[in-house]
Amino acid sequence: MVIATGTFLGGRLFRGTERLDGGRIDERPSHRLSQQFRSMDLPITRLKTGTPPRLDGRTIDWSRLERQSTDEDMWRMSFLPCPRRFLPQLSCAITRTNERGHDVIRAGLSDSPLFAGAIEGGGPRYCPSIEDKVHRFGDRDGHQIFLEPEGLDDHVIYPNGISTSLSRGIQERLIATIAGLERARITTYGYAVEYDHLDPRSLDHRLGLHDLPGLFCAGQINGSTGYEEAAAQGLIAGLNAAAHALSLDSFVCDRAAGYMGVMVDDLVLQGVSEPYRMLTARAEYRLALRADNAETRLTGLGVAAGAVREQRRASFERRQEMRVRARAGDRREIDPDVYREVEEDARYAPYLERQTAEIARMRADRDVTIPSPETLHAVPGLSTEMIERLSIARPTTLDEASRVRGITPAALSALWLHARKSA
Ligand SMILES: Cc1cc2nc3c(=O)[nH]c(=O)nc-3n(C[C@H](O)[C@H](O)[C@H](O)COP(=O)(O)OP(=O)(O)OC[C@H]3O[C@@H](n4cnc5c(N)ncnc54)[C@H](O)[C@@H]3O)c2cc1C
Repeated sequence: MVIATGTFLGGRLFRGTERLDGGRIDERPSHRLSQQFRSMDLPITRLKTGTPPRLDGRTIDWSRLERQSTDEDMWRMSFLPCPRRFLPQLSCAITRTNERGHDVIRAGLSDSPLFAGAIEGGGPRYCPSIEDKVHRFGDRDGHQIFLEPEGLDDHVIYPNGISTSLSRGIQERLIATIAGLERARITTYGYAVEYDHLDPRSLDHRLGLHDLPGLFCAGQINGSTGYEEAAAQGLIAGLNAAAHALSLDSFVCDRAAGYMGVMVDDLVLQGVSEPYRMLTARAEYRLALRADNAETRLTGLGVAAGAVREQRRASFERRQEMRVRARAGDRREIDPDVYREVEEDARYAPYLERQTAEIARMRADRDVTIPSPETLHAVPGLSTEMIERLSIARPTTLDEASRVRGITPAALSALWLHARKSA
C-alpha cells in the first residue's frame, strides 16, 4: 500500500483570524489516519504551506500586462516520436506588487497567523508567502507575479508569487493595488495549511517504512514541497509497492543516476526541518544530470524494473544505436535531439572530468578546517540557507559540515575551495 495524503493528515487552514479544519479548502482533513499513525508511535511532526487567492480571468485587464508566451518550439518531456503537441497552448502574463500593496500587507500583519505565532510548522523557504517576502526583503519595491491560467475550460487564474494567509479584507485591498488587477474578482481566498508529516528517516530507499513492511509513503507526507517531488516519489513508492507484492527486486535510483535518487537519499538519510524542494545544488553530479540525457540515464533502470512498455523500449534501443554511431562521427539518419545530446556530452566531458577529480580530492581532504560562522558570509557561493544551517551547527571541519542536515554538495564544494585558497 502507498500512503500519499498530501496536506490532509491533521490538516488545518489559516486565513487572518479564521481557523478551519481541512486538507485543502472545502475538503475534509484526515484525522483518523493521523491518530492511527501517532498511536503506532510513528515519528510525526507539523509542516506548513500556503496558496494564493484565485482570480476570475475575465475581470483582469490583460491589455496592460506583459505577455509570457508558451515555448515556441516543439520541446516535449517525452522522447517518444510525436508529430505535435495535442493540447492548445495558453499564455501567462506578468505583473508586480508595489509599495502601496506592501503598505496594505504591513497593516494586516497583526491578524496574520504566521506573524501572530498561530502556526507551529515550518514553511517552504523557496515559495514564501507575500507577507514573508515583504517582511524579510523590506527594501524591495515590488515582487513579480505570474498570472497563470488554471485550465483550458475555466476562467480561474493562479497568481503565482502571492501565496498568503492574510485576512480576506487585506487580500482584496492588496489585489486592488496591483497593475491590471485593480478590478479583479477573487474567486477563492488564499490561505495557509498546516499538516502532519512523517519523519522520512523512518523510510528506506524504497520509500517503505522500516517498521511496517509493505507500507510505502510518497509526496508531502514525507516532508517534500511540490508537484515534481511528489510525482517522482509516487513513481518510486509505486514501483516498490508492486515489487514487494510480487516478490520482485526493489527499484532504487542512486544519486548519480537522477535527481529522484538525490531526493530520496536526502530525505531518508537527513530528514527535513522545512518542506524539501529539489534543487540542482543538492546533487554532486549535477553536470551529468541534464534533461536532454534523461532517456539515456533512466530508461535502462525502467526496463530492468519491468516498467517500460515495448514501444518505448524499442525506441530506446534504436536511439542507443544512433548514439553509438553519432559518437563515431556519423551524422546521417541520426535524430537531431540524439545528435545534440552527444554534442553536449562532448562539450561537458572536460568539466565532468574536473568535477569527478574535485569530488575525489574533496573526499580525501575531509579534515580541512572551515571558516567560523562569523566569517561564512565571505565564502563565495554559499546561500543564505547554508549559512543559517552552518551557523546553528557550528562544524569546524569539512567532514563535520558534510554531516549537518541539509548541507548540499555545492555548499561543501564552496567551503572546500575557500579553505584551500585561504590555506
Ligand atoms: C492550491 C495549491 C497550489 C499548488 N501549487 C503548486 C505549484 O505551483 N507548484 C508546485 O510544485 N506545487 C504546488 N502545490 C503543491 C502540490 O500540489 C503538492 O505538493 C502535490 O500535489 C502533493 O502531492 P501529494 O501526492 O503528496 O498530495 P495531493 O496531491 O494533495 O494528494 C493527496 C490525496 O490524498 C487524498 N487523501 C488524503 N487523506 C486521505 C485518506 N485518509 N483516505 C483517502 N484519501 C485521502 C486526498 O483527497 C488527495 O486526493 C500546490 C498545492 C495546492 C494545494
